[in-house]
Amino acid sequence: MTLQTIPDDAALRDLARISRGGNAPGLARQFAKLGGCLNPVRLEGTRLDVDGPTGEVLRAFSSHDTAAGCVLVRCGNRRTSRCPACAETYRRDTYHLISAGLAGGKSVPDTVTTHPRVFATFTAPSFGPVHNRPTNGHPCRCGLRHRTDEPTLGTPLDPDSYDYTAAVLWNAHAGKLWARFTTLLRRVIAAELGLTRKEFERSARVSFAKVAEFQKRGAVHFHAVIRIDGPNREMVDPPPAWATVELLDAAVRVAVLRTRVPGFENLAGGLPAHFVWGRQVDVRPIRTRAFDGGSPLTDRAVAAYIAKYATKGGEAVLGTLDRRIHLLAELAAHEMTDHARRLVRTAWKLGARSELADLGLRRWAHMLGFRGHFSTKSRRYSTTLGALRDARTAWCDAKNRAAAQAAGAFVPDPDTTLVVASWTYVGSGLGAGESWLARSATPDPATAREALADLRAQEGEAA
Ligand SMILES: [Zn+2]
Ligand SMILES: [Zn+2]
Repeated sequence: MTLQTIPDDAALRDLARISRGGNAPGLARQFAKLGGCLNPVRLEGTRLDVDGPTGEVLRAFSSHDTAAGCVLVRCGNRRTSRCPACAETYRRDTYHLISAGLAGGKSVPDTVTTHPRVFATFTAPSFGPVHNRPTNGHPCRCGLRHRTDEPTLGTPLDPDSYDYTAAVLWNAHAGKLWARFTTLLRRVIAAELGLTRKEFERSARVSFAKVAEFQKRGAVHFHAVIRIDGPNREMVDPPPAWATVELLDAAVRVAVLRTRVPGFENLAGGLPAHFVWGRQVDVRPIRTRAFDGGSPLTDRAVAAYIAKYATKGGEAVLGTLDRRIHLLAELAAHEMTDHARRLVRTAWKLGARSELADLGLRRWAHMLGFRGHFSTKSRRYSTTLGALRDARTAWCDAKNRAAAQAAGAFVPDPDTTLVVASWTYVGSGLGAGESWLARSATPDPATAREALADLRAQEGEAA
């Protein structure tokens, strides 16, 4: 994000309006609290702090008393293309929760480092040959050696024979494939040990944390941390003696090859009969930093890698298309490759078929049919984003309370004070002048970069 120093015409007009209102300093203070969020949610309403025992109103607050005329709340969007500041918060939170599940911390015991765990990548099968950089050093099938940054990478050699329908429908079934895989993995491990499903559940649990990412060809793929724990449902406890990383590694490979989700066998129109993963399975054991033995895949590197992808939509593939479209004509306004455009069009066209209505393909056309979450984890993997947010809010509240008290301000007692609040959503985003003020209120980019570099160093070497 660049620091805007000179407002443009629209911003100047808006700033003039703000300055006539005489509340520019108040606005600047309100924006400073947004931590750089440029698309805040606007709320109108009131809050009354009432003394429980006496019923006396200790403090009344109305959004009309604020400089902006409404309360501004951070948008919390995870996408860097939508809100860099909120995406950075999301990335940090994701890092902490993935990291806690690997190295311990945030209510997860340190012994978790001794559990068998792997980092696995799940891809889509082929929908037709695409331009690529073969790992064996050979040129691409088109005869050229492509550079890593060429936009043709991942696009079809022959767009007319590429199976766009299957590609979109596969994305739409990726979530189901994942769910099916997790069930199969438990069964494969149980079968290997000669245990029934019930016996397996009594002796161990398998937990997951995963992120989704778009490959250049527009297919979703998943990166996942998979770990074996003990059977305790309430906390992370040590796994049984049979749980080894070799067993987990082999079971993941078998389960990937066996995963199959029914498609549209009895429907006309060239729809796929079933969906499977691609045959290339990448599974790697995760070492702790202390015992990495030269392995580049440490728990910190994995956490940093996953967190980085948690804040990406599909910018590399989808260009500027980062929200739902309501008319196909909107596509023309976005910068993207012809390949991505064709995938969106295919999703839109398939979305008109009544037998595919469940897939919501028009609603998810901007995601090339994928409607899953970008980062998910099983309940017991580690802490939750909600818990991290609550901890942060509580910390901020405590800090604010202490500061207010030190300044001699009235601070209600949280144990006896009732809070009666009512808020209504009135919109989101900032006007041109407000946006300029908000950017000016954010910290100097050089300082911010330093702070970020500091944080990344603490978080370990990013992938
Ligand atoms: Zn935001
Ligand atoms: Zn090529």
